[in-house]
Amino acid sequence: MIKQNLEKIKQQLPSNVQLVVVSKFRPIEQLKEVYESGEREFAENRVQEMVTKYEALPKDINWHLIGHLQTNKVKYIAPFVSLIHSVDSLELAQEISKQALKNNRIIPILLQVHVAQEDSKFGLKPEMVETVCKQIIELPNVKIKGVMGMATFTEDEILIKKEFRQLKGIFDDLKETNFKNEENFNTVSMGMSGDYKLAVEEGSTLVRIGSLVFE
Ligand SMILES: *Cc1c(COP(=O)(O)O)cnc(C)c1O
Repeated sequence: MIKQNLEKIKQQLPSNVQLVVVSKFRPIEQLKEVYESGEREFAENRVQEMVTKYEALPKDINWHLIGHLQTNKVKYIAPFVSLIHSVDSLELAQEISKQALKNNRIIPILLQVHVAQEDSKFGLKPEMVETVCKQIIELPNVKIKGVMGMATFTEDEILIKKEFRQLKGIFDDLKETNFKNEENFNTVSMGMSGDYKLAVEEGSTLVRIGSLVFE
């Protein structure tokens, strides 16, 4: 099943859009199936679960952290995480940089932006993104690769597309103002099982898909 699901999803994705398999809550056995189908990009939303799975699975997997990250837990993933999507404060970025330095590495991050209508404690307000970005750029051991966001959980496709368009617009603005000649600033992480096609239409470069893979 998992293999077929993956094939079906990948057929739908343009070649410039990366698939990240959201494996949160799924048992190791199922992750192995995903791995054996050839996937190497896995995402988790909890630190402890990610560490446990990292330890149990082959080391050529790239681990993405997509859930809210508390500063006191950064140290557990700093040695191996490949991309942190959920950076939404200077304080968190400072801690990531500090732990990255201890591990003698530079950790790639995305700025999480709150574009949905739903109340959420997480994500930078759109009007704050540039200010915070300018501060984070100064940190030595993190590298900003782009932005991440979630659309409102709704059937209203027009609203979803509008929110994705806003996020892509924020990415384009940052690119123009702060990352003009940086090839590595290239990631717009948007789109999940229910809305990834809309996200791709609006310029997503990375989709985070769980349910469609495992169900
Ligand atoms: C759970 C989760 C996903 C995947 O959701 P599905 O609907 O299962 O595809 C994507 N992004 C984030 C931030 C998540 O927490």
